Amino acid sequence: MPFDPADPLDRYSRQIRFPSLGEAGQRKLMRSRVTICGCGALGTVLANHLARAGVGFLRIVDRDFIETHNLQRQILFDETDVADNLPKAEAAARKLRAINGEVTVEPVVTDIDHTNILDLVGDADLILDGTDNFETRYLINDAAVKLGKPWIFGGVIGSEGQTMTIRPGQTPCLRCLIEDSPPPGMTPTCETAGVLGPAVAIIASFEAVEAIKLLTGALDALNKELIMIDIWDWAFRRLKIASLLGKVDCPCCKQRKFEWLDGAMGSHTTTLCGRNAVQIASRRPEPLNFVEMADRLKSAGEVRHNAFMLRFGTEGYEFTVFPDGRAIIKGTNDIAKARTLYAQFVGS
Ligand SMILES: [Zn+2]
Repeated sequence: MPFDPADPLDRYSRQIRFPSLGEAGQRKLMRSRVTICGCGALGTVLANHLARAGVGFLRIVDRDFIETHNLQRQILFDETDVADNLPKAEAAARKLRAINGEVTVEPVVTDIDHTNILDLVGDADLILDGTDNFETRYLINDAAVKLGKPWIFGGVIGSEGQTMTIRPGQTPCLRCLIEDSPPPGMTPTCETAGVLGPAVAIIASFEAVEAIKLLTGALDALNKELIMIDIWDWAFRRLKIASLLGKVDCPCCKQRKFEWLDGAMGSHTTTLCGRNAVQIASRRPEPLNFVEMADRLKSAGEVRHNAFMLRFGTEGYEFTVFPDGRAIIKGTNDIAKARTLYAQFVGS
């Protein structure tokens, strides 16, 4: 079938020609809504694939700003974004709109926690894991099981990666597999073990193709296993997990106890692993006035701000403050010290 270049579907002609997707599948993608949790290495690859594939609505949620050491693997960002002090969600949205103007992209600069996750995923057909920590994954798992929404888990460290597709009621959930989150500091992180860009791209691409299958209704083609790869050693393992469904006494999908969503599990102030930084969580009803704040702080240190964040350096600490009051304080791993600094310079 010849495509007319003026036809809005022409840009998708090469995937429409793929028989298992077809025009009907394309139209489903264009009507779909996806929330991508985290827009770092996994999230940028996920968002890139889905925007190009024409998924109609993408909500990109990320708490962080871009640093030069992200550019090795976070494919939507460049040196200009670092210089412009852009939050990842905002920089990603700008790039994605330039890639495909047909797609609606909603950037949300926030830390995903039990108070906001239902709002962030409630209207989505699918939730994608682009996070870097188990705490947020258990929270996504709780929200997905509670709402009966599919989500796709993905994780990468070093040259190793894992992924699993979770459909509540149809497949085991994350807690069926690993009941409790490993305590912080007990597992390697990208900061301690490093991470290879291609390993991330492969796992995120697995997640993206599963997303396309789920959104177009190709449920028979979905991955029903836990996939584990090591691209350095060429190891590829597929763990059969389907039989866990209903067999284990899962607190989440069997007992329907949503401990992460209820706030019983998980912390509020987070030490950002290996970064010598602490995040102070906050959610103010009114956005901070950066102009006033900069004026107040300029005698104490160096201040810069744009619409998305305020940077302030003093006494060897670097503050990055977001409009909702959340702050990342670099230069310490001591939570008490970070709280004191926050009260001192940002205010309580
Ligand atoms: Zn379960």
